[in-house]
Amino acid sequence: MLLEAFEVLEGTPASREQLERCHAPGYLDQLESLEVPTMLDHDTVASETSYEAALLAAGCALAAVDRGGFALVRPPGHHALPARAMGFCLVNNVAVAARYALAELGLGRVAIVDWDVHHGNGTQDIFWDDPSVFFASLHQWPFYPGTGGPGEENETTVNVPLPAGSGDEDYLLAFDERVAPAVRGFEPELLLVSAGFDAHVDDPLAGMRVTAGGFRELARRSAALAPRVAAVLEGGYDPRTLPALVGAAVEGFRE
Ligand SMILES: [Zn+2]
Repeated sequence: MLLEAFEVLEGTPASREQLERCHAPGYLDQLESLEVPTMLDHDTVASETSYEAALLAAGCALAAVDRGGFALVRPPGHHALPARAMGFCLVNNVAVAARYALAELGLGRVAIVDWDVHHGNGTQDIFWDDPSVFFASLHQWPFYPGTGGPGEENETTVNVPLPAGSGDEDYLLAFDERVAPAVRGFEPELLLVSAGFDAHVDDPLAGMRVTAGGFRELARRSAALAPRVAAVLEGGYDPRTLPALVGAAVEGFRE
């Protein structure tokens, strides 16, 4: 349903070397060697085709960087830790894309803005000690995965925990007051968006009230923070609303 709503280009798989910039070789070996459906944590199942799917999803994120596009991928990535799957995520697509931009495109500073309703704990973990990547997350808190609470930050990490029930005005105010000034101060050459749509008012997994217009505005304001922007799909669990929400964000990125 999602892919039918857009003009899409098929991606090519990321390489093992590109994944190893963010993930432990032993963990990738484990994913590659799965032969039957296996629970990797209490809500993350993977099977014999999952490694290929993860390579393709990460590869699409790299193509999005190259083209200034939007990687419409599953599985999502922002909970994936260096050596562990978590929360439906196997490989951290946006993190692999950021390291690709640094290592292969010669960029010096990349910022990631994560507006998925859940905290991007995997992305935060990968870049916590990396001064070349700025990470900012807006998310429902307290909520899964439990991280990203008040005061959890460093020079290149900003967390904006928001109470359940927050809507467009709350998100945009938090974006303008907390996220935008911090990202601007970092002067990123590329902005990557971990674009989840599970903060939508109709999403079944969370309790926020963002509308399509809110996502469009978040996208527009994100794109204004750097000379280049690309997006990677994270959560969004109502297949009936997802195409229109992605469409609203795409419009915002182009404005
Ligand atoms: Zn999410």
